[in-house]
Amino acid sequence: PGVSSRTGAEEFWATARRHLIRYSGSDFTPAVIERAAGSEVFDSDGRAILDFTSGQMSALLGHSHPAVVEAVTRSIATLDHLSSWMLSRPVVDLAAALSATLPDPLDKVLLLSTGGESNEAAIRMAKLHTGGHEIVAFDQSYHGVTHASGAATFSVSRTGYGPVAPGNIAIPTPNAYRPLLTRDGEHDWRAELDHAFTMVDRQSVGSLAAFIAEPILSTGGVIEPPPGYFAALKRKCEERGMLLILDEAQTGLCRTGDWYAFQRDGVVPDILTLSKTLGAGLPVSAVITNEEVERRCHDRGYYFVTTHVSDPLAAAVGLAVVTALAENDFDRVARDRGERLRRGLLELRSRHEHIGDVRGRGLLQGIELVTDRADKHPAERLGAAVTAACFDLGLHLNIVQFPGSGSVLRMAPPLTITDAELDRGLDILDQALTTAARRGAAT
Ligand code: PMP
Repeated sequence: PGVSSRTGAEEFWATARRHLIRYSGSDFTPAVIERAAGSEVFDSDGRAILDFTSGQMSALLGHSHPAVVEAVTRSIATLDHLSSWMLSRPVVDLAAALSATLPDPLDKVLLLSTGGESNEAAIRMAKLHTGGHEIVAFDQSYHGVTHASGAATFSVSRTGYGPVAPGNIAIPTPNAYRPLLTRDGEHDWRAELDHAFTMVDRQSVGSLAAFIAEPILSTGGVIEPPPGYFAALKRKCEERGMLLILDEAQTGLCRTGDWYAFQRDGVVPDILTLSKTLGAGLPVSAVITNEEVERRCHDRGYYFVTTHVSDPLAAAVGLAVVTALAENDFDRVARDRGERLRRGLLELRSRHEHIGDVRGRGLLQGIELVTDRADKHPAERLGAAVTAACFDLGLHLNIVQFPGSGSVLRMAPPLTITDAELDRGLDILDQALTTAARRGAAT
């Protein structure tokens, strides 16, 4: 039964408060969500809310896409789940389908459930392959909350849990909007990177295993390292015998206008992880590497058995997603719709003085809010107020706000979003920016 009456909603929140463990410092959106379809979710009053987070970056094809529903329904009825030591066709088919979308050496696939888990598995591989244990990452990284993934996550949630895995080193995130070093007014990212690795070498105990990064740091504030950065980073890794792990949890599978965001720089990682977008709303993740890494790890006793490793249902879903993406040219769709979103955001920037920066690729875009464009001071109260005003008007988007990130509104609508829905979202954002600034929340 729905919770349409006021008493119903009050009771719902009272029960939630009483029985749920709170897993983040932020509040839930003030709505009881009953249904989700396409680009929208619906609350208990039947109100439609545009979901510019794609169910926080996972429902890549929109909520309850028919191909995903069909895969789940078919699979749960005919081949639900197997022992980790049994293989089924969907697993092998998905592994082959993923390698067909990737450049050549990346053709060995491990299927798991979540993003944190895929990075955990990738980091274990890098350790076994290199014999080292040190992991380097950006200081605004997010790779999950589990042991090694959490240790390589520098953006949030490091304190309060005792020692993290030893040997994790952060380097500055190359941020063209807030460059650390400049030369003739230009971001001198090469000098930043050189200096960062001088520091890495000083701190290392001689056991470097891998660098892990997102090609575009999403939770880090939608920050795209400059062209050429990853090629230079890969060289730094090779000089030190480290592997490069790219985490495309959010950017992978057409979201940024290419099948994979790393393709733009032409830098092939040693290990690639996919998660959120691969399941299009369900827990499906993958680790993909080359033959050499796979073989050496196997020879050294690689072990990553989980209950849902090589899960047929998860694989059927992943296969449905990859097939739907390929059949509908969703890379081009994301590029076109992303361009429309970006044009709209740039237009908003021309009228709203608190938008300091518009950035991103394809259907992953962010706007950074500042108190004034000259000093670029993060407009944190404004960010929170705009997000709340958007929600009141029927648009859900994420805000990224932690020390060092600035205050960034992040948008990643489903690739299936229509032009009309995109425009509606932009209209709401326009109104919300005006209302929030008028209320004096611009600090
Ligand atoms: N990597 C990236 C880039 C992510 O954005 C996330 C989730 N926000 C993760 C890893 C962790 O994935 P999960 O929450 O499924 O463990």
